[in-house]
Amino acid sequence: MNNFTKEENRYFLKYIINIRRSKVTYIVLLLALIPRVIWMTRDIMPDSSFLSLNIKLNFDNFINNLNLINSFSIKALSVGWPFILISLFELIKSKNIQHLSLARIHSSKGRKYADLIYYILSMVEFKLSYLTYFATLGISRFSTGFKTFLNNIYESLVPLDVFSNSFTSFIMFILGLLIFELGMYISHRISHAFLWEIHEFHHSATEMNILNHSRVGTLHQTINGIIDLPLVLLGVVFVNQAIEQGQWPLFVLWTIFGIAGDCFGFIGHSSLKLVFPKPISYIFLSPSLHWLHHSDNPKHFNKNFGRVLCIWDQLFGTYLDESNLKDINGFGIKDSEYNKFNPLYCYYVLPIKKLYKKLKIKFRVSL
Ligand SMILES: [Zn+2]
Ligand SMILES: [Zn+2]
Repeated sequence: MNNFTKEENRYFLKYIINIRRSKVTYIVLLLALIPRVIWMTRDIMPDSSFLSLNIKLNFDNFINNLNLINSFSIKALSVGWPFILISLFELIKSKNIQHLSLARIHSSKGRKYADLIYYILSMVEFKLSYLTYFATLGISRFSTGFKTFLNNIYESLVPLDVFSNSFTSFIMFILGLLIFELGMYISHRISHAFLWEIHEFHHSATEMNILNHSRVGTLHQTINGIIDLPLVLLGVVFVNQAIEQGQWPLFVLWTIFGIAGDCFGFIGHSSLKLVFPKPISYIFLSPSLHWLHHSDNPKHFNKNFGRVLCIWDQLFGTYLDESNLKDINGFGIKDSEYNKFNPLYCYYVLPIKKLYKKLKIKFRVSL
């Protein structure tokens, strides 16, 4: 049951939408995310010097010298860091514990604390998109066979000597990011059409809280991963080649891009309003525009599919800017089946049942 009255919810939405924070706050927030960036990319750092310092070597030494307790603490901190940080920034402004997005977990429709259960379940599952995303570069650094495989794809698409200087490497890198994001954009759009029965699970959350970033079932993760794979891999092949040639500067950009996808996902599902100023917002999708994607106002349906970039949304006419935020009346899907059953059943069984039912009906119709 929802613990908030309609008026309280309306007040809360008005509050988070109209909130004003100084630019310094956001800069501090983004800088504070850097430790997570370094931790998550430790395996794919270029093994070369940056400003005459071999960061990878120093970082590897630091990790190897950690004892078991310190190593566990750092791992736990890296997982919890976005939660701690976002909650802190939410609290600094409002000073009201009720305004914490984590505090709203108990008021989301469905079983109590279901989002917490979904988050824990998502931590242990296989993440194909994520693996392609980070590990492709990682694996290519350890396995010469895999590196050759990537190089072969690349060489069959682009003659090597075309991109042999740093300018063309940079162009190729940007192209890689765009292809990568296009893969994600397409799979999200498909999720809203042919795979809605399973994607509805993500949209069934009636409160935006940091945890429902992970409200995506195993079946959905896997199918999306397969749809993403060709374009995501192609993007990574381009990025990989560019990093091989450009090394640190492009690696830093790739890392920022990767962590933006990770951290902005958490912010976009929180109560922390983060809308980028104009020149940036033409390229990057402000995390809080994801609120529109979850809005229950029909005017906002099927909009802002992007993950980090909004370029594909702008190009395909699915972009809605921050001026629409004021029209949000609430979040989620009315009477979603995903809020009616046990979280374990909703996470593992219901998506399969719903998809099977849809396919069965389609199959019968086509007969
Ligand atoms: Zn969606
Ligand atoms: Zn979402």
